[in-house]
Amino acid sequence: MATENASEASERGPKGKVILTEARCKGCSFCIEFCPTRALALSTRLNYKGYRLPELANPEKCNGCDLCGLYCPDFAIFGVRLGREKKGE
Ligand code: SF4
Ligand code: SF4
Repeated sequence: MATENASEASERGPKGKVILTEARCKGCSFCIEFCPTRALALSTRLNYKGYRLPELANPEKCNGCDLCGLYCPDFAIFGVRLGREKKGE
């Protein structure tokens, strides 16, 4: 089975990202707690309701698995997988 080293992986960029609907978030941190790769963290930013928002603090760790989305009680966040084309392809 083919393997890739860390530099090859970083050349290809992150595997996933999250999309957050800030207005829906209530700052409960469930998404942060249940992220299996510890990619999320609580930021210092607040939404208009005054809740602290999660952020993708370690974007290189996100694989787009969408567990954050499954556990968010307010459908405020979801993860998506990204295409990972090699540079120059
Ligand atoms: S998509 Fe998966 S890896 Fe990325 S932040 Fe959400 S739970 Fe973590
Ligand atoms: S689980 Fe949802 S509501 Fe809770 S902090 Fe994360 S995005 Fe906000």
